[in-house]
Amino acid sequence: MFVSENLSVNAAGHLAVGGVDTVELAKEYGTPLYVMDEQVVRKSLRLFHDSMNKHYGGRGEVHYASKAFSCMEMCRIVASEGDGLDAVSIGELYTAVKAGFPMEKVGFHGNNKTNEELEYAVEVGVGHIIVDNISELHRLEKIAAKKNAQPKIMFRIKPGIDAHTHDFVRTGQIDSKFGFALETGEAFEAVKEAVSCKNVSLFGLHCHIGSQIFDIAPFEEAAKVMLGFIAKIKNELGYEIEGLNLGGGFGIKYVDENDPKPFEVYLEKVSEAVKAECEKLGLKLPKMFIEPGRSIAGPAGITLYTVGARKVIPNIRTYVSVDGGMADNPRYILYGSEYDAVVANKAGEERNEKVTIAGKCCESGDLIGENMPLQHAESGDIIAVCATGAYNYSMSSNYNRLQKPAVVFVNNGKSRIAVKRETLDDIIRNDI
Ligand SMILES: *Cc1c(COP(=O)(O)O)cnc(C)c1O
Repeated sequence: MFVSENLSVNAAGHLAVGGVDTVELAKEYGTPLYVMDEQVVRKSLRLFHDSMNKHYGGRGEVHYASKAFSCMEMCRIVASEGDGLDAVSIGELYTAVKAGFPMEKVGFHGNNKTNEELEYAVEVGVGHIIVDNISELHRLEKIAAKKNAQPKIMFRIKPGIDAHTHDFVRTGQIDSKFGFALETGEAFEAVKEAVSCKNVSLFGLHCHIGSQIFDIAPFEEAAKVMLGFIAKIKNELGYEIEGLNLGGGFGIKYVDENDPKPFEVYLEKVSEAVKAECEKLGLKLPKMFIEPGRSIAGPAGITLYTVGARKVIPNIRTYVSVDGGMADNPRYILYGSEYDAVVANKAGEERNEKVTIAGKCCESGDLIGENMPLQHAESGDIIAVCATGAYNYSMSSNYNRLQKPAVVFVNNGKSRIAVKRETLDDIIRNDI
């Protein structure tokens, strides 16, 4: 009935998440409100690490891609599951440090890390730094020498795989700002250089082919290409690459038409492909890393809004406006992303209207979606937008000087605040 399996209708006819009535949540914490179901986060993490253990003999690590949704409470939950983290900025690193995250289980990413960020990553002792380009390698060498450190690095490689997803979230092809190209020899030259570097230790290779991918084949293909490169490095330079990081990108269900494979199937197939290829090429099994972001945070989240205006434009469309929009969920205006929504206080009723849900920002494109099946929504109703756990809070802004919503976690019938709602004083906090 709902796109996310954790949602249900309770005895009051209201939408419930994690055993909590969403209408009550809206009353208690106000709207807009991000709600994260802790059990869904934990279950997804376990699906990934358990299947990695099962199909890859425990020689792997799951690094949650914290850019999908980062706050200290999320870091604590990931740490308590024994999983690692992928961070892409000093802010994400700082969040992890402050949450007491074991930094040796953190991979540090970014296509244009600043010296300040590299220094911080070395200081806090991240597990590995994923180096994106040659100038970063040179800068990192200097920083490491100065700090008398020898950070472990991986190289981000563009494996040349075309994953069928939105252009803006495709990253594996040669025309991408991320990583070293294989075809041009750029990656091999960088490896040659790193192998002889005293101040960094080349530990692994990384690729991430895109996001919201439903096919398994591109992941298998990417693994094969990467292992081919690992074999070339071994044969030509006599150097064994120990780590293979295959990134994230596993697709989730936003609307009924989406048909993601169960996450464990990805891991099973990819593990088999890696094992078969290693045998063929005479390679030791590398330690495998994956970096799921959306697939961990996305299905766990919903956003609650209060309906304000309802505008019927005869023969054209009906606008139902909510008290949030592109400032808390910019994915429609960025990618034209689709969502499923339900009137939380009428969740048991038929969704017999098709409406455009609009935000309150001063942009005509500020929509949650068009042509969305919905119960008859009126002023004062609560709308829940489903599967908003990833790339919503983390991409939120203060556009129009809106205050960022609070984040609440629910777990087995209880709710707790994880991020407070911004106050008006927060809005002017840095103004002079
Ligand atoms: C964004 C990103 C991820 C996570 O992608 P999802 O689609 O959210 O799983 C993983 N690794 C890297 C390097 C990324 O940039």
